[in-house]
Amino acid sequence: MPVVAFREILDPAFKERYGVAAFNVVDDVSLRAVIDAATQLESPLIVQTSLKTVKAIGAKVLYEMFRAMAEDAPVPITLHLDHCPDREWATICLKTGWNSVLFDGSHLDIEENTRQTAEVVEEARAYGADVEGEIESVRGVEDDVGSDEEGEIHPVDVSLKFIEDTGVYAFAPAIGTAHGLYASSPKLMPERVTEMVERRPIPMVLHGGTGLAPEQFQDLISRGCAKVNISTALKIAFVDSFREYLDANPSKHDPPSLLKSASDAVRAMAVEHMRIFGSAGKARTAVGG
Ligand SMILES: [Zn+2]
Repeated sequence: MPVVAFREILDPAFKERYGVAAFNVVDDVSLRAVIDAATQLESPLIVQTSLKTVKAIGAKVLYEMFRAMAEDAPVPITLHLDHCPDREWATICLKTGWNSVLFDGSHLDIEENTRQTAEVVEEARAYGADVEGEIESVRGVEDDVGSDEEGEIHPVDVSLKFIEDTGVYAFAPAIGTAHGLYASSPKLMPERVTEMVERRPIPMVLHGGTGLAPEQFQDLISRGCAKVNISTALKIAFVDSFREYLDANPSKHDPPSLLKSASDAVRAMAVEHMRIFGSAGKARTAVGG
């Protein structure tokens, strides 16, 4: 199946109130694993990459690898650039073929963030790509982007004006989640999602999903969080599988078996999340009706 536009996956998810997992892949093994999981469940899929991963692998190599694998898959898949505070890199990825970018201007004041995000929206449009926007930084550092400081939360009106002025397709509101692992159960503000969606019905994006309970995911998805980012859970599955494999096989030096254990762990993690988010079986309806 050809790679599809970001909105082709999120329009139906938002309308029908299921969530599509957006996994931050780190290499070919994790990329293949999340595609296999989506194929197994007949689920649409958002593959996303952190800027750190793009820089490490190279935009062209990463994109070609994505394309080769995604085109052979029987489910709709799209490629998204996660938190990108750097305009130059947003441009490189759009030019290379990414279907959407999160321009992260949360470090800028709202006026400057609005101005720059509107420019990225304009630029993306030329490539048939979409933009996710945010004004409140998600607490926690993820792949070198972000801060552990508690960010400022603006009134809903400010977010709505930003959405209106920039024309972003999707928006990541502050709802009390954080990147990384939670030390204690987070205090969520799900009513912010409801209010925004009622007043401006566009897909909302849930960041900092790792560690939320299934009911918390499902509640936020039912309110309009159509894209659910999963990064930390993938890293844990990936890295812990290495540790477990090496502990269990201290004298083996067989990279394919080691990588197979990582692949199995990432695939199982992805399947579990897709089931919770309600996207299983939706690949049949996501494209063309
Ligand atoms: Zn994030």
